Amino acid sequence: MKKIAVVGTGYVGLVTGVALSDIGHDVTCIDIDEHKVKRMQEGKSPIYEPGLDEVMARNIEAGRLHFTTSHEEGFNSKDVIYIAVGTPEKEDGTADLRFIDQVTADIATHVADDVIIVTKSTVPVGTNDYILKKIRERLIHKVTVNIVSNPEFLREGSAVYDAFHGDRIVVGADSKEAGDVIEDINKPFGIQVYRTDVRSAEMIKYASNAFLATKISFINEIANICEKVGANIEDVATGMGMDDRIGSKFLNAGIGYGGSCFPKDTKALAQIAANNDHHFELLESVIRVNNQQHSSLTTKAKTVMGSLKGKKVALLGLAFKPNTDDMRESPAIAVSSELLLAGADVTAYDPIAMDNAKKVIPEGVTYVDSTEEALAGADAVFIITDWPEFKELDLSVFKEKMATPLLFDGRNCYDLNTVASANINYYSIGRSPVE
Ligand code: NAD
Repeated sequence: MKKIAVVGTGYVGLVTGVALSDIGHDVTCIDIDEHKVKRMQEGKSPIYEPGLDEVMARNIEAGRLHFTTSHEEGFNSKDVIYIAVGTPEKEDGTADLRFIDQVTADIATHVADDVIIVTKSTVPVGTNDYILKKIRERLIHKVTVNIVSNPEFLREGSAVYDAFHGDRIVVGADSKEAGDVIEDINKPFGIQVYRTDVRSAEMIKYASNAFLATKISFINEIANICEKVGANIEDVATGMGMDDRIGSKFLNAGIGYGGSCFPKDTKALAQIAANNDHHFELLESVIRVNNQQHSSLTTKAKTVMGSLKGKKVALLGLAFKPNTDDMRESPAIAVSSELLLAGADVTAYDPIAMDNAKKVIPEGVTYVDSTEEALAGADAVFIITDWPEFKELDLSVFKEKMATPLLFDGRNCYDLNTVASANINYYSIGRSPVE
């Protein structure tokens, strides 16, 4: 059992802290957000993640999981400090390291025992070396500090499951002893550990996200061609995915990726390349294709409906993917802006993400509390997030509630034959329309 501090209790930090406490470590989670810390001290998760509340509660109960806003208190007598603060993008696409800098200063000021720093946050190659140098330069107490890069691969919406069943744990360490400690800490998870050096670990994270984003933009481009040549993207993706070299995952065509990771990490990697005199042409195309894909439904709607001025459009789903309340870079932001700009009257519903949506979606959208309310009297509906409750809808609801049953589905939620028998007009991604 190790004594661990986790700095930052967002999706990554909180899930990491909770999971580490569940395998027996004593964990203190630190956050500067007093409101969040108060909630967590009361046993409530400040984010929506399936299963998180339950695991959190049992470890608070067992006395292994603590929360504080004080770095001094949180860092006291710890063997390991995990850094899990945000690394958002700056306007030029590079990673903003100001939260990392702040944590670095806090660690240098407060640690009074030998400690290993573990970086979970996604940081540009070379950042772990920078963190270690800065901490060592500013240390108040003469202690030994080492660093390990341990990038995070969890998926929002199944983060708790992923913490216990991930494909691999990457441990990037230039000090063998420090790497051994972190490998040991993770042993109870029973997940294979991949050991490498610090810089390769940092690159594994960016390269993985860039590759997944590439798969998405690739299949979306194929989908766009399928529409023109009369092929069906679902069949194409299935046929492709049967080849083990390609794999069937991440071949779902749609309205494009969003979220807190792919958009910023692809831009950051393109910048890392540019800063090192390499033009990452492929990745820049991936990013451009994704931005264009966000407009695909609105473009279709304009072709089918003509002007959208005064048309009542329902948006089903706002979160960037199902099972999360995260709105960061959700395609819903671009879609609602385009619809409002075109003069449409937009009504939106999301099962979980509505509070967060109101902070980032442009003003002018009306929010309602159910699918039925959103559809009432609508001229068209856009499906942006494939929440199970939308996929499981009885399709008769569209004909019953809408002024005209016209669907633009950005997630290919429905089978074309089922749609055909429901007498609705249906436009999806990479498949023939049902008119
Ligand atoms: P987040 O924005 O949800 O949470 C960050 C937390 O850090 C916030 O609660 C903030 O208050 C806190 N914080 C900031 N400065 C602090 C300080 N000095 N001391 C204590 N707390 C501080 O971020 P996130 O989505 O959990 O992502 C964290 C990192 O993990 C990022 O680098 C991200 O790229 C990476 N990552 C995220 C995901 C994901 O799915 N969200 C997956 C893999 C990796």
